[in-house]
Amino acid sequence: MDKVTPKTDLYQANLDRVAPLLKALRADGIGHMIGGRVVASISGETFETTSPIDGAVLASVARGNAEDVDRAATAAALAFKPWRDMPASMRRKLLHRVADAIEDRADDIAVLECVDTGQAHRFMAKAAIRAAENFRFFADKCTEARDGLNTPSEEHWNVSTRVPIGPVGVITPWNTPFMLSTWKIAPALAAGCTVVHKPAEWSPVTADLLAKLVKQAGIPDGVLNTVHGFGEEAGKALTEHPAIKAIGFVGESATGSAIMAQGAPNLKRVHFELGGKNPVIVFDDADIERALDAVVFMIYSLNGERCTSSSRLLIQQSIADRFIEKLAARVKALKVGHPLDPATEIGPLIHVRHLEKVCTYFDVARQDGATIAVGGSVHDGPGGGHYVQPTLVTGANGKMRIAQEEVFGPFLTVIAFRDESDAIAIANDVKYGLTGYVWTGDMGRALRVADALEAGMIWLNSENVRHLPTPFGGMKASGIGRDGGDYSFDVYMETKHVSLARGTHRIQRLGI
Ligand code: NAD
Repeated sequence: MDKVTPKTDLYQANLDRVAPLLKALRADGIGHMIGGRVVASISGETFETTSPIDGAVLASVARGNAEDVDRAATAAALAFKPWRDMPASMRRKLLHRVADAIEDRADDIAVLECVDTGQAHRFMAKAAIRAAENFRFFADKCTEARDGLNTPSEEHWNVSTRVPIGPVGVITPWNTPFMLSTWKIAPALAAGCTVVHKPAEWSPVTADLLAKLVKQAGIPDGVLNTVHGFGEEAGKALTEHPAIKAIGFVGESATGSAIMAQGAPNLKRVHFELGGKNPVIVFDDADIERALDAVVFMIYSLNGERCTSSSRLLIQQSIADRFIEKLAARVKALKVGHPLDPATEIGPLIHVRHLEKVCTYFDVARQDGATIAVGGSVHDGPGGGHYVQPTLVTGANGKMRIAQEEVFGPFLTVIAFRDESDAIAIANDVKYGLTGYVWTGDMGRALRVADALEAGMIWLNSENVRHLPTPFGGMKASGIGRDGGDYSFDVYMETKHVSLARGTHRIQRLGI
């Protein structure tokens, strides 16, 4: 199945590690985790999850529907009060134990994520560690989650506090699914909410493992429930369930709209992390070598299947030819290969439907009148899976579809600009507003552009480097609400105001 030879020690070790895990997966299948028990769907229905490397069936997965979601939501509702009322220091201890359990299995999680999603091991090796960090960070916030403010007036003490909103639904996508799920689930549990998780149907494997690790760590039954299945079935039922008080969702903008409509009849609170078409703007006074490294990393790492990827390069005309020449050389040299090979930089895309979607943009680029400078075709990789050539498209303008639509693959659109105002206008002329990256040696300009960009997160002279206390989220069609630090609690908690009279104020006397 594998054409890359000879295998390095780590490559062989990864293959050896994953083989028994896959054997067990194939034998056991994947069930829902509801109320602390692994169960089949009430209907008995299943679906198969396959590997993007070679199409091999990885497991038969329980296909949840509204009945299964109802069971899970009921379990989450039953578990809510004891979990909410547990001393925060105890919740903290338990969430640290989850982090320990994740760290213990980090190497297994990495290889399973590779075969289920096609992501390269060099990136997935750290995914479980980052997931454990998410649990540790929010574990330490358990004890302050309910903190509020005292805002006294003349006659009253006015105290605010925060209380967990109730059982919540978490719906996640297939790109870096393990890390992303923990990013949503850890703060919900720290807040004192119970959770029903609906992972993406294209990547159920590590979500199953997460549910088991959480149980193994001693989190009470029913606090985290996982229901597998399709978006329009299990996902929709979760967003409509009356016991579920809020939905934390990561996925496409169009799905976010659908979820908002589905949840509207029972006024579901929503928190959305959605798509992006993020600009990286490189001015002619930038540190070109560092900018080049960041440009390549932010679109070609993680297969370009990354919401924060800089999928539009806005390059100043005066340096465009020089920069594009260096860029093209780097893109041509990217290593497409088996995800378990540590040398691989780009693995197969998640699913044949996603491969087809990405490939349609090769024709769109040509029809738009842009030039495919590198790539532009599928790639014959080991296992014969959903590989695509890393692609660089030049000569684009901001109005083209390849400059407006999220491709979500290793596909970079290059647009030249004249000056600062031109760059800002092009950067903002999309429906999305997740991230922006600016490269310049002029700090005044960097700050002016940062102010002007319509995006929730801006990095100046840097690629995306995540710091957990900072706010994460998008403007416009890229999201509603923020994650990270204390911001995560805005979705999972209600702010409650308590006013305590000093007993001295005059109360109006009626009916005397
Ligand atoms: P998707 O919207 O197709 O699916 C995401 C999840 O929603 C899946 O679990 C799916 O089953 C479920 N779903 C689908 N329809 C539903 C419905 N009607 N009701 C309830 N649930 C439903 O997204 P995807 O293709 O899995 O992921 C890629 C997208 O996610 C990209 O647009 C990417 O930019 C975005 N994303 C955003 C962030 C961020 O932080 N902003 C992070 C990662 C990914």
